[in-house]
Amino acid sequence: MKLHEYQSKLIFAKFGVPIPRGKVAASASEAREIANELGGRVVVKSQVLVGGRGKAGGIKVANSSDEAEEYAAQILCMEIKGLPVRKVLIDEAANIVSEIYLGITNDRAARKPVMMVSAAGGVDIEEVARETPEKIVRVHIDPLLGLRDYQARDIAAEIDLPRDLWHAFGQIANGLWKAYQNSDANLAEINPLVITADNQLLAVDGKMVLDDNALFRHPDLAEKRDLDVEAEAEIEARKYGLSFIKLDGDIGCMVNGAGLAMTTMDIIKLFGGEPANFLDIGGGASAEKVTAAFRIILADPNIKAVLINIFGGITRGDVVARGILSAMEEIKPEVPMVVRLVGTNAEEGRQLLADANMITADTLADAAQKAVAAAKGGK
Ligand code: GDP
Ligand code: MN
Repeated sequence: MKLHEYQSKLIFAKFGVPIPRGKVAASASEAREIANELGGRVVVKSQVLVGGRGKAGGIKVANSSDEAEEYAAQILCMEIKGLPVRKVLIDEAANIVSEIYLGITNDRAARKPVMMVSAAGGVDIEEVARETPEKIVRVHIDPLLGLRDYQARDIAAEIDLPRDLWHAFGQIANGLWKAYQNSDANLAEINPLVITADNQLLAVDGKMVLDDNALFRHPDLAEKRDLDVEAEAEIEARKYGLSFIKLDGDIGCMVNGAGLAMTTMDIIKLFGGEPANFLDIGGGASAEKVTAAFRIILADPNIKAVLINIFGGITRGDVVARGILSAMEEIKPEVPMVVRLVGTNAEEGRQLLADANMITADTLADAAQKAVAAAKGGK
């Protein structure tokens, strides 16, 4: 789950990271009031859950509250990378001398969090990472020991940070680590961490991605989820405990088990098709869950065929088939449905489905080929 910039920065601030004074506005007149309170010179910042807002025109420095109102009005009408802007953050503008990148994420290969820092921070950090990766310093953090003071000093030296800022940098690096660890985050990032004209360090931007699997430990963070900007299908799927990710293809997939779901997507591609989604209905799925899964898959207007791939272990094939049939009675899909059902009582299950005019398949390869053909020749 991604947090907005203003949410991330408030969490960072709780752990001692200095952030600009500022407030969120949902209208241009509110933006004006906040700019007034802050003394006029402010940055108007779109709050959308994508990066690169600056380059997209979603970040503007205003020199007066009049200008703040005008920019807020413009930005609140914008769509950035397909996401509508519903809120803007009005921050006191910083006088920026230089921009540092500071981030923490998990390094799976090292099985440790890693802190990444670069003196070449700012909106072009992706390019820096691609073209001059040696400009990014990486330091692994032992999760039991936490970030050590000497590590922060090493980093400060490595990026040639002026000596008089080392102490402040150490506190910020440590604060970011604490924010990351305490929130069970997958990413905590300050880009840019700026050096201001009066020689202070300030976190001008903030980004956090939380681990969905740990959200149950953080009800206060879980409720920050921005439902406005999430795909409707994904919200619906979460309600039924389904793992669903929308993709761009035209073959809907309904599968039990995440590994099998990925295999199904791969094999569709192998035979020249494109999956429309990833969907894991989980083990022992109820008829209610199966119905919800169908509804979610078929709500996508791109769907030309559906591939149902169920490996019945504990769940019996005939029970699964009845579940599918009762779901279809409710949903009445108009696209061809291909089913591959294996496991206990699979034969009975297949018979039930064949009787209901569904296309059955014996193997996964057979099923994928039939689904690809159905999508190409189907409605
Ligand atoms: P992003 O493009 O989504 O990463 O948004 P950022 O919040 O990082 O803003 C993009 C860029 O706008 C920063 O790298 C800065 O160069 C600039 N910027 C952001 N806040 C301020 C500010 O307070 N004053 C000035 N002068 N520039 C700012
Ligand atoms: Mn940024």
